[in-house]
Amino acid sequence: MINRNRISDRINQLAQIGKSADGGVTRIAFSKEDQQAHNLVANWMKEAGLHVRIDRAGNLIGCLPGRNPTAPPVLIGSHLDTVINGGRFDGTIGVIAGLEIAQHLLEEKDLLPLPLEVIAFRDEEGVRFGSGLFGSRAMAGNLVKNEMDKVDLHNVSRKEVLEEAGLQPDLLPEAQRTDPITAYFEIHIEQGPLLEQRNIPIGIVTGIAGCIRLLLEFTGTAGHAGTVPMHLRKDALLVACETALAVDDLMRQYQVTSLVGTVGSLQAYPGAVNTIAGKATITVDIRDLDSSRLQHAVNRIKDFTQRIADTRGLQLKLQETLRTSPTLCSNALNDILKTTAQEMETPHIEMMSGAGHDAQAMAQICDMGMILIRCNDGLSHHPQEYADMDDIEIGVRLLEKAIKAYCRNFRFHMASS
Ligand SMILES: [Zn+2]
Repeated sequence: MINRNRISDRINQLAQIGKSADGGVTRIAFSKEDQQAHNLVANWMKEAGLHVRIDRAGNLIGCLPGRNPTAPPVLIGSHLDTVINGGRFDGTIGVIAGLEIAQHLLEEKDLLPLPLEVIAFRDEEGVRFGSGLFGSRAMAGNLVKNEMDKVDLHNVSRKEVLEEAGLQPDLLPEAQRTDPITAYFEIHIEQGPLLEQRNIPIGIVTGIAGCIRLLLEFTGTAGHAGTVPMHLRKDALLVACETALAVDDLMRQYQVTSLVGTVGSLQAYPGAVNTIAGKATITVDIRDLDSSRLQHAVNRIKDFTQRIADTRGLQLKLQETLRTSPTLCSNALNDILKTTAQEMETPHIEMMSGAGHDAQAMAQICDMGMILIRCNDGLSHHPQEYADMDDIEIGVRLLEKAIKAYCRNFRFHMASS
């Protein structure tokens, strides 16, 4: 059997590293705490009998040979870094799940036909440099040109941070996998309320939403709060608020669960109690699994924002700050996960992941499948983030069984091709 106590012990041990008073965890990528977590998991991997290596991006990889050692491997991965005062389950359970499956297979002397790799990716959250999925994008060969020049709040560059961690930034391209990989699996907490609401422990992911972010800057006229009559004002803050409400209204009009839009940040300038705001900025984050609907929604937002600004006589500067395409999970892996869940009589639904994951980077280079675990109140990136051990155990057992089924099918493919 999968060792439930070992999983729970490991979650608790990792939760001690970077622990805050309110039960949250802060392990910013490449911090002392993050390194400590990577070292601890590396030790667990070694104790379990995996071959451990660290790639050029600092990703930790534990390998379990397969019965056919030269066959392309199956990968299970996630991350150990957190946001500031985040939770103890986000990312962590995916790495621990992979390790548990590998360790269990070894203990049962039940090697898979294919090698199995358990991966803890570096800097999934992107807190420090504003761009996440660093380790998985490096592995997929998808880093961008200026990646090394990005600086944190203290003006320390990504390059310097990597050097400090004992890595050689010049050799980073070598982190890219060019060997064939058969499949990548990831277990992650849902980070949303849907599973709990439907009283279902497991979500089998159909795809990861694409995301488009806009930065809208409205320029009106600053003025004295006491002397400018209402009909002569060009109040940038009010127009920003009007736009924010319109974004929310538009998203609801589509009546599609997967399409969501968020105005998460609003700044008014000069930001004084007795001054009409002459300038205001808002950010808009729009996500959907359907790329044409996503684009449609963004176009409509751009249109009505311009209209609102024109009507109020304000200048609008509109900038697209991020664009990621939706990532679909592999149908074959999805089918295996669903069939296995049915065999186990595990209640499950198919669902989209609205949050980004290492899986979306890995899907660029191999088939990808993902399992989401129900969490309490949909809370994540939060000290009170919580997933029940019963649900986590079901997820780990489901993944192990599905990978075995996948390997059986894979052998069949190899034999029949
Ligand atoms: Zn995560």
